[in-house]
Amino acid sequence: MDINEILMHLGEDREEYFNAIAPPVIQSSNFVFPDVAAMRAALAEEAVHHIYTRGNNPTVEILRKKIAALENTEDALITPSGSAAIAIALISQLKAGDHLICVQKPYSWTAKLINNILHRFGVSSDFVDGRDICNIMNAIKPNTRVLYLESPNSITFELQDLEACASVAVKYGITTIIDNSHCSPLFQRPADFGIDIILHSATKYINGHSDVVAGVICSDRKRIATMFDMEWMTLGTAVSPHDAALMLRGLRTLHIRLQRSNDTAFQVTGYLHNHPKVAQLLFPLHPSFPQYDLAVRQMKGCGGLITIQLKAENKSQAERFVNQLKCFLIAVSWGGYESLVLPSVVFHDIPGKPDSPLHWTWVRLYVGLEDAAYLIADLEQAFDSM
Ligand SMILES: *Cc1c(COP(=O)(O)O)cnc(C)c1O
Repeated sequence: MDINEILMHLGEDREEYFNAIAPPVIQSSNFVFPDVAAMRAALAEEAVHHIYTRGNNPTVEILRKKIAALENTEDALITPSGSAAIAIALISQLKAGDHLICVQKPYSWTAKLINNILHRFGVSSDFVDGRDICNIMNAIKPNTRVLYLESPNSITFELQDLEACASVAVKYGITTIIDNSHCSPLFQRPADFGIDIILHSATKYINGHSDVVAGVICSDRKRIATMFDMEWMTLGTAVSPHDAALMLRGLRTLHIRLQRSNDTAFQVTGYLHNHPKVAQLLFPLHPSFPQYDLAVRQMKGCGGLITIQLKAENKSQAERFVNQLKCFLIAVSWGGYESLVLPSVVFHDIPGKPDSPLHWTWVRLYVGLEDAAYLIADLEQAFDSM
């Protein structure tokens, strides 16, 4: 379906609400019925009727339809965070005694969920380098039920060949799940490669305005219906209609924001590549990236995330570079309008916590919606101060 149609009109039944252009926020916990028979009919199919907002809400439902169409899947669920989406998806596909394969260095809270919580419920796991499909194939056991992907992965942007992963998984009856936050549905559509369940932190590009924390789960109608009825409803992971309305507003400009961040990131990487203070540049669509050919094959764009390794002699020099940046704000998260910097040095020397395995010279930049010249000038004066 046409992207313009999805972002501007799909799922919006304007005659239902006074022909208003913007969908109303149906801030209501429950919905009434004219008689018992009508209520009984609705209860038979709770996912598509309006009964109770922990289940289906009209404002949230518009978002579900748009996100599912963007990912080319039959249905979607909206969750109150990306981490909730990851937890619901994994729990829904696993039981005690099952084995899970996850790519190495996933989003940190995903690793914690697998290592600290799923293990408690008898799910075993292996983390493998997914850059080579052979590593995934070698990790498959008779009880492997899920292959969990993140391509590009967090911080170091390692890719997996999605088509190869899906075809191996199908052969062994393994469900494939991917965290697709990095690309958004516009730059990578995993369902087109045969991936079963697609997840997003909607906090990032989908909302895009740094004012909502939310997530999405996309899959076929049968999987979503089962998840809706079991894990999603029982754990109570519904999103508020108000947050859904903010995400609908964010979605109107997804294509413009993403392209802008992407184009600016290309200019910024052009500046960073071969910079005397940069030891290494990681950006999947830069020709210097080790998996550049695969990135070109399965991604239509990259977005605004860039990782660099500083040529810094000590931690205080790395800190000085970051502290000196004025346009890139020091913060976690990404995908909003504002440019951000997250240095790995911040995860070192925290009292009572082990150091990050990532060397302190690494710095992740997120390029927002500002001009490239404005951001490059900021980087230049920060490099000069090192
Ligand atoms: C932020 C993020 C998440 C978690 O999403 P929340 O909305 O913060 O819960 C998951 N995966 C990736 C890749 C992320 O960047």
